[in-house]
Amino acid sequence: MQLKDRLREILYLFLYALIGPGEGVQVILLYHSVGTAAPYGISPEVFEAQMGLLAERFTVVRLSDLPLAVQAGPPGSNIAVVTFDDGCLDNYEVALPILERFGIKATFFVVTDFLGKRIRTVKGERAFMDVDQVRELFQLGHEIGSHTAHHVKLTQLPPAVAQQEVEGSKKFLEDLLQAPVCSFAYPKGLYSPSVRRLVAGAGYKVAVTTEPGLVSRRSDWLTLPRVWVRGSLSLPAFRARLSPATNAYGLWRRLTEKRMP
Ligand SMILES: [Zn+2]
Repeated sequence: MQLKDRLREILYLFLYALIGPGEGVQVILLYHSVGTAAPYGISPEVFEAQMGLLAERFTVVRLSDLPLAVQAGPPGSNIAVVTFDDGCLDNYEVALPILERFGIKATFFVVTDFLGKRIRTVKGERAFMDVDQVRELFQLGHEIGSHTAHHVKLTQLPPAVAQQEVEGSKKFLEDLLQAPVCSFAYPKGLYSPSVRRLVAGAGYKVAVTTEPGLVSRRSDWLTLPRVWVRGSLSLPAFRARLSPATNAYGLWRRLTEKRMP
């Protein structure tokens, strides 16, 4: 584990010891890959332990169900969403059986042009789910969301191209699943007011960034924060992220203007 990861972990554990687990915690978790190397990947054993811990304390819903769960759920209930970005094949082969064992329904953000391909990415060569596997996830009750057609930085594209990425991927998935696709994840978490407007205009109801933090009733449903679960995270540090320590850490980071990822 790198020094900055170690320092972050110590700070989280300290804040958790100070504040406690809290109640009414609403959190969206971000995963990429299960069964590959850290930081983007996490071991199946660790993922299983995390899902066990989550199922004990949290009601886990799909992202599109989160607004209703937060607004209409009993006060003080802990609600979590499990999301996967990019559509890696190991989501289907490794993560799915673990999720099913715990009865957890997740939200998978796929890149429509990557489906069924092997691609060299910054995370190494990756195999991606194909359309049949995506359809099967959906039929099992998991949610499929869009992560654009080509995993592009939307803030750096001409508006017409960005619009095509946002709308074209939605249409592709809706044709595939024969159902509405309401959730979107900004590639690399990048968005701007105009990109947010494109996402709203395309008809998405919920969209997620990579900004750390918990969800509240006051959250903007089209720029929701997520807790990125890195492969190096210990189980106590994972537990700390499912608590108000996450917001306390975010506040500390803003106050100190430390650029820790
Ligand atoms: Zn991504």
